[in-house]
Amino acid sequence: MSELVVGIDLGTSNSVISVVLEGEAIVIPDEAGNRIHPSVVYFREDGQTVVGNQAWRFRAEHPQRTVYSAKRLIGRPFDSPEIKMLMGSFPFAVIPAEDNTPRIQIDNQLHPPEGIGARVLHYLKSLAEQYLGQAVDKAVITVPANFDEAQRRATKRAGELAGLEVMRLVNEPTAAALAYGYGARKRERVAIYDFGGGTFDVTLLELRDNVFEVLSTAGNTYLGGDDFDNRLVALMMNAFERQHQVDLSADHYSRQRLRVLAEHLKCELSHNEVIRQRIVEYVPGTMTEIEIDFQLSRQEFNERCRDIVDQSLQTCQEALQTAGLQRAELEHLVLVGGSTRIPLVQQRTREFFNREPVLGINPDEVVSIGAAVFGASLTDQGRAPQVGAANFDPNDDSWMEGLEEDGGGGPLLIDVTPHALGVATVGGVMDIIIERNGQLPLERSRYFSTSRDNQTRVVLPVYSGNSRRIEENQQLGMIELTDIPPGPREEVQIEVTFEVDTNGMLSIRATDMRTGLNQFVRLSITGDSVGQESYDTSDLLMT
Ligand code: AMP
Repeated sequence: MSELVVGIDLGTSNSVISVVLEGEAIVIPDEAGNRIHPSVVYFREDGQTVVGNQAWRFRAEHPQRTVYSAKRLIGRPFDSPEIKMLMGSFPFAVIPAEDNTPRIQIDNQLHPPEGIGARVLHYLKSLAEQYLGQAVDKAVITVPANFDEAQRRATKRAGELAGLEVMRLVNEPTAAALAYGYGARKRERVAIYDFGGGTFDVTLLELRDNVFEVLSTAGNTYLGGDDFDNRLVALMMNAFERQHQVDLSADHYSRQRLRVLAEHLKCELSHNEVIRQRIVEYVPGTMTEIEIDFQLSRQEFNERCRDIVDQSLQTCQEALQTAGLQRAELEHLVLVGGSTRIPLVQQRTREFFNREPVLGINPDEVVSIGAAVFGASLTDQGRAPQVGAANFDPNDDSWMEGLEEDGGGGPLLIDVTPHALGVATVGGVMDIIIERNGQLPLERSRYFSTSRDNQTRVVLPVYSGNSRRIEENQQLGMIELTDIPPGPREEVQIEVTFEVDTNGMLSIRATDMRTGLNQFVRLSITGDSVGQESYDTSDLLMT
């Protein structure tokens, strides 16, 4: 039996798992035939867990035990502005661990977000094993293009906790482009507009046969389908307030029920001009029923949510600018993610890009299919002509020099760094070592000197982010060089080398040029908690 590599789209709201069998990409269903599996874990009182579609219905019934959107927490420090913003909206408890990472508390158990991801992945793995009748140990997992180093590391860790060897992390839009173009010998520029449940990404790629070169990527990890749901929840709450003078905003149960309903109504509005719903709630802390007749037209929905869609278009503009492209230079628009089913999103993207989106691609499944296609290319089976292996000539284009071709004509993915990477130096700034949007794999070095005479210890706090101000960036970890032979400041030269591999994972080397003493840190080491660490600023280096 040949070894299969599954492709997994581990989404904020939903996940999809696919595999290439005899040259054809197949989406793996659950026993009930569902091809899309909510990324939801329900913790039963007896300690057992329920995952996927079965877990979904517990969201309204047992909100405090039903964990969703863990992807919004993964790889982030607890005190990040994003988590602070989310805290009020989760009905389950999220508390900080000692290393300042978030933990989801269910009874007395604390679960890291990657532990939730691992349960979802383990469930998908078992679905695949049942479906295929063989063990599944290898996967390609997708991540949002603008996931930073820590988020990627945590996602990889989730895969490993689930018993999967993560062959590669592929950016979601790149995977979508693969599903769209692999084997079709296309030569064109495409925009992948990916609007999911919790994140928005846009990626501009150039396809040249089986080469998928990312020209730029931009995203907003806090823009997604949830924002539309929240608008609807606010409208419903206003209606209760107006008609019954009852404020439901602080009632977790109410809020959760209304959120579930809001999402349902939002989806209904994608194929109905008007929706009407009788909603019954309770006066908080009592069993007294209150009721509204909620009605909303698509037109009003569009007016109330236009700014959400426009925010995504601003991000598209940013991606165009980074790539140095005009809208007219893009030949195709591919819509990905559940939120692209919203008519307003389709209309506004059509207007913005001035072209019809590519039809016939299922926006929910395309990312997972791309990951499976890539996974298959990593095995001998995938290189069979059925999945479109082309006689690709790596010497065709000079820009590919130095890049590793994966042999046999599989797809060649050329991704970019979504954020700049650097180190904090004296003065509290991030000195950038790797620029944003650099093609991967990538290695860059910079020289620094000690900041005071006879400094025998230096620390290099490593940051990712697009700002020069360290407080606006995320600390990924820290490396330390000790026992440096004393010397006058500025004479001691430290070479710092950053290397980012094709998964977007960072390795760092710092070398004292006089002694050759060096420190090598692979931030991708699994299970290694490289988080926010404090340091003495007098140990920093200077440029
Ligand atoms: P994804 O993260 O790609 O699975 O997208 C999930 C998001 O898509 C959720 O916010 C869903 O509510 C939303 N979604 C799915 N189907 C529809 C639909 N028919 N209309 C509007 N939004 C949808």
